[in-house]
This record gives sequence, C-alpha cells and structure tokens, in this order.
Amino acid sequence: MNADASSSRSFRGKSVLFCAECSFENPVSDGWLVVSDGDERTIVCPECGHVADHRTERSAPAPRAD
Ligand SMILES: [Zn+2]
Repeated sequence: MNADASSSRSFRGKSVLFCAECSFENPVSDGWLVVSDGDERTIVCPECGHVADHRTERSAPAPRAD
C-alpha cells in the first residue's frame, strides 16, 4: 500500500468546489452532498450545510436577439 494517499487520487482536471463558509474543498462529484430535484441540482457542503452551487441540468437557454 502506498503511504502517500494524496498522490493516489488524481483529480484529472476535475473542478474543485470550495465552501465559502467553512473552507471545505473537494471535487463536486466527491464528498459534496448533491441534491437532485427534477432538472435542478444543488451542491450542499457536508460540513456546514452551505449551498455552494445550484444549477439546472438543462442547457442554459441561450438569449437570442431576434
Ligand atoms: Zn461548508
């Protein structure tokens, strides 16, 4: 087993999310509480419950100037 745990996990360009409240940081897909509600997805900090991100699965409606 490798003692250096930090090097065993490659982030491979994954976006790391930071909590503004408690400085918790992890890739979005690892550690954060992801609450899905229909097309919406809320990223909640597991440490303090702060909502760090909120997005919709749908592609953002492109504003078109007709
Ligand atoms: Zn937090």
